[in-house]
Amino acid sequence: MPLQIVTVACLSDNYAFLLHDPDSGQTALVDAPEAAPIIAELKLRGWNLTQILITHHHYDHIDGVEELRSAYGAKVIGAKADAHRLPRLDTELIEGDTVSIGGNHGVVIDVSGHTIGHIAFHFPRNAALFTADSLMALGCGRLFEGTPAQMWQSLSKLINLPDITMVYSGHEYTQSNASFAYSIEPNNPALKNRILQIIKARSQNMPTVPSLLADEQATNPFLRPDSAEIRTNLGMESASNTAVFTEIRRRKDNFSSTKMPNISQDTCDCD
Ligand code: ZN
Ligand code: FE
Repeated sequence: MPLQIVTVACLSDNYAFLLHDPDSGQTALVDAPEAAPIIAELKLRGWNLTQILITHHHYDHIDGVEELRSAYGAKVIGAKADAHRLPRLDTELIEGDTVSIGGNHGVVIDVSGHTIGHIAFHFPRNAALFTADSLMALGCGRLFEGTPAQMWQSLSKLINLPDITMVYSGHEYTQSNASFAYSIEPNNPALKNRILQIIKARSQNMPTVPSLLADEQATNPFLRPDSAEIRTNLGMESASNTAVFTEIRRRKDNFSSTKMPNISQDTCDCD
């Protein structure tokens, strides 16, 4: 049976994910922003936490690890490159390694950029990709440690995964990401359509994560440095993808408006 995946909202805008394998009874957690909401969800479902998978070292992804480890005796798994600044790891991972939750296998992908040593987990049989602060819904993580070229290389590994892959990212940032995306590609009909869906979801307090990789390919500016419209708007028609990505990331860093673009149903080519 496929994994059951449950989103757990944590802190002010973080998401953690529980991955439950019904056959073996194993349950893994991807990131531990805080313990309490995760323990509550496990109790509600009658699941026992067996593994904690860590994507990167930021406090809002690891602060709950020790409390969960001692409550459940869960094994803690993370990047070897980050072992010196993560909670004590039972298993250290490098790119290409696999993690197992019962019979479900997740492949480790190095997605350095936001931090050096940030990893993503791809579960091909479940078409699920856990990206935390690398690829995000309509965005990508800010570059605290890596270079734009590194982040572009990391995102390039994710772009060609199957279209039907669901992207489980680490934060509810989609609405502000949407206003930036619209500022550099306002004539992308798929983007307009997606923004309407995002506004609707958020007005009902619904999460916009996970998102479909096909939608990210069609609308996320950080996956679209080859878009003719973006290139024209940046005056970079003949630049390399890396150079265009670098400029998109620079503009996002300086973009302050979180006001939603005013798109009415009439102006949207929803098909
Ligand atoms: Zn982070
Ligand atoms: Fe984060």
